This record gives sequence, C-alpha cells and structure tokens, in this order.
Amino acid sequence: MKMLIGGKWITANETINVIDPFDNSLIDVIPKATEKDAMDAIESAKRGFEIARKLTVFERYSILQKTAEYVEKNKEDFAVTIAREGSKTIKEARKEANRCVNTLRVSAEEAKRLLGETIPFDSFPGGESKLGYFYRQPIGIVLAITPFNDPLNLVAHKLGPAIAAGNSVILKPATVTPLSALKLAEAFIASGLPAECLQVITGNGSEIGPVLVRDERIRMVSFTGGYDAGKEITKTAGIKKIGMELGSNSPVIVWNDVDVDYAVDSCVSGAFWAAGQNCIGVQRIYIHKKIYNEFRDKFIARTVKYKIGNKMQEDCDMGPMITEKEAERVEKWVKEAVGLGANCLCGGKRKGAIMEPTVLDNVPENATIHKEEVFGPAVNLYQIEGMDEAIEKANSLPFGLHAAVFCNNINLAMKAAYGLDCGGVIVNDSTDYRLDSMPFGGIKNSGLGREGIKFSLQEMTEPKMVCINVMN
Ligand code: NAP
Repeated sequence: MKMLIGGKWITANETINVIDPFDNSLIDVIPKATEKDAMDAIESAKRGFEIARKLTVFERYSILQKTAEYVEKNKEDFAVTIAREGSKTIKEARKEANRCVNTLRVSAEEAKRLLGETIPFDSFPGGESKLGYFYRQPIGIVLAITPFNDPLNLVAHKLGPAIAAGNSVILKPATVTPLSALKLAEAFIASGLPAECLQVITGNGSEIGPVLVRDERIRMVSFTGGYDAGKEITKTAGIKKIGMELGSNSPVIVWNDVDVDYAVDSCVSGAFWAAGQNCIGVQRIYIHKKIYNEFRDKFIARTVKYKIGNKMQEDCDMGPMITEKEAERVEKWVKEAVGLGANCLCGGKRKGAIMEPTVLDNVPENATIHKEEVFGPAVNLYQIEGMDEAIEKANSLPFGLHAAVFCNNINLAMKAAYGLDCGGVIVNDSTDYRLDSMPFGGIKNSGLGREGIKFSLQEMTEPKMVCINVMN
C-alpha cells in the first residue's frame, strides 16, 4: 500500500515488507518515509488544519458517521487485515473492527457536545461591565503515533476525536502493522474528509519519529506505545501538548468469597487476549490463600485447553506474538524466573513466534517477569491473606493503568477500588475491560492524560476566551 502525504497516495524509494508473523508470508510492502517526507507531511498538515478548522460541526459529524458506515460495511476485510498483519486471531480481530465502528460513531456524536461556558465576570469588583464565554478551539496539527497491538481501533481513538475537534492529523502507525491504519485512512477520504486534513506516514519510528516530534508546527503528540519510546518523545517534544498511553503489568486481586470458575475464565481471557500483547492484560494475580489451590488448578486446566496456532482458523484461541524476537524475550523472562525459583505450572515453551500460554507461581520479586510489563502470554499467581496486603503488593510497581478486584464484599471491594493506584479499577471482571467511551489512561509510568473519545476531545482542544466590555 501507499502512504498518504500532501493529499496523494505516494510511494518512496525504499520499502518495508509487512509480514504475517504466523507463517512469515509477505502480505504487502509499504513506503519507508524519509525526513523529506516528514517535512512534506507537516507542510500539508498545516494547509489541512486551515481546512479542518473551518469544517462545521455538522460536516465533521457527517464525515465521521460515513467513515463508521464504511468500516461497518467492510468489517470482514478490516478484520482479516488486522488478523493477518498482527497477532490477533480472526475472532479477536472481528471484535476490534466492531469496536472501531463504535469509536468512530461516538466521535461523531461527541463533535456535537464540545461545549464552552459563560463566565460570571461580575463575580469580582471591576468586572461589572464585562460579559463573555469560552469555547473550545482545535489545538492544531496532532501527531498521532500508534502501536501494533490494536492496529485499527487505537488509530480510530486518535483520528476520530482529532477530526471531531477540527484538527489536522499526521499519523505514524506501527511499522509492523501499518495496513489497518492505511485502510482506515482510505475510509476517511472516501467519506469526504478533505485529503490534506490527514497524513499517514509509514517508516521507522526511531528515524522519522524524532523529526516529527520536535517540530514546532506540531501542537500535540498523542502517543500510544511503550515506556522507552514514550520517554524519548517527552525528551524531544519541546513546548507542545503530550498525551502518553503507555504500558502496565496489571494486577488482579481475587478474594475468598468469589465464584472461582467465573474469576478463572475472566482472568484466563484477560491474560492471553491477543497473545498477552495488551496494555491492560492480566499479569499479576493475587489470590486469597483459602481458594489459592482451587483457583490455580482450575486456571491451569483452562489454560492448557487453549487452542494456539493458526489465527485465521475460527476455533483458534491464541495466535503468535508479533515477532519471533518478542517471543524469544518472553521465553527468556520465563526461564530467568524459573532459574530464580519460580514454578512454571504450564506452558513455557516457544516455537517460532508462538509462545505457549504460560502460568507461573512462586515468582520472586527480583524476576523481570514480576517487575516489568511482560506484554506476552505469561501470567504470575501469588497468594495473599489480607486485602491491605493485596493492595500494597498490587501498588508496589511503577505502573498504574488498570487494576481489578474480584470480591463479593462491597466494603472490601470499595477499599480496593479506592486503594489501588491506577487510572481505572474493574470490580468483578479482569483488568482487560474497556468501553471505548470511558476515560482511559494511566498514572505513574503508565501514562499522562486520558483517551476515551470525550476525554481525547478535551486534550485535543484548548479553551478560547471571548470577553466583551459592554459600553453603555
Ligand atoms: P513501541 O515500540 O513503543 O512503538 C509504538 C510506536 O512508536 C510505533 O509506531 C513506533 O514506530 C513508534 N516509535 C518508536 N520509537 C519512536 C521514537 N523515538 N519517536 C517517535 N515514535 C517512535 O510500542 P509497541 O511495541 O508498538 O506497542 C507495545 C506497547 O504499547 C506496550 O508497552 C503497550 O502496553 C503499549 N500500549 C499502550 C496502550 C494504552 O492505551 N495505554 C495501548 C496499546 C499498547 P515503529 O513501529 O516504526 O518502531
């Protein structure tokens, strides 16, 4: 596929192969953008912003609604693209395509709800003759940088609100999964978005990323990805707004009064969704001592039934990791933990990019798989005796995106909901739950700012004050 710069679909001298990680087959080739392409994208986005800011709210609403309809009509094609270029099974990919339609629809609706306020100027002496209000104006050019694990819906989470707000966007999708993003751009253009309002630049993030990030014409960097790239971006960005949606190693507390089968099902799905490559994937499960053995045994029994392999098959539960290198990393972390005294209860083996769903217990606190985001199909089980102890252990690491608690005692569940340091607590479901319209984001090293369309619209706009001195 081609990239979209200056209102045209263009190629480049150098190209990058897009490979299916399951069988290493070539799916497509994409252009490898140069620094000049990045500059062209910014110039075009500047012109695009002048067009975008003048689109009426109804025009933005209509473009977003039509784009949602386009994706809905071509849902299976989008799902196959997601599944082929990434890690998701076809069943998981269909869910993502559905969520993308919803994200675009909600963006259309929220375009109409971007409101301001009147200000009571007579609330302080000297303001009696003034009246005024603020409205929200678009921020300008938004640079959207996206990861590989939700290659369609996380792109929609940036393009939808940015366009609803009247901004122009430069999108830099993940190099391993650019095709879903390029197809979404086609959908926007086919739905009437003026072409220069959107640029999609494909190429190496560490090469063209800093060129774009540091440019003063860009007013906001909306980044979703890993901590290391996020930190680099904050160092380079200069004075501009930054949104950071980063990773985590989500904790789940399972109390002694729950339906164990239900908690197991929910946590297994949360741990191995998208082969564990999920920013809110379940990584650390703190289980009450009284039900520990039952939970562990049922968890293993459920995990070993997982059908892994060919993600295009309807009955496949889990596909490969995004690259063999990533699967090797997870295998290494598992081996390191076992070397330090952990028990590998099931899984632990790797074939190419496929890492078996792996369950560990007795994981020491100095093991990498305890301390860092695993971002792969491995989960750690721990025993706890008290809710305070569980909360303290859940909070002990420098991440804080989602946490979860399974508990039927309302007082203890609320204690956890208030005590867990993170952006969102899920009660009686795993950390892997997100409604696309809820505020979503992390604290500590998990991020800065919030997404979830209405909340992204606030981040991607600025209040503009109008104050009138009434001359009577
Ligand atoms: P990544 O390696 O950080 O890459 C993310 C994006 O950043 C890619 O488009 C990448 O381009 C680009 N990039 C890399 N270095 C850059 C730089 N110096 N300047 C500008 N851009 C740069 O992350 P990933 O492996 O794709 O995704 C996994 C991570 O994303 C995990 O940590 C996961 O938790 C996190 N995540 C967070 C959320 C959330 O909403 N909080 C959602 C999903 C994923 P290239 O592809 O060309 O390298």
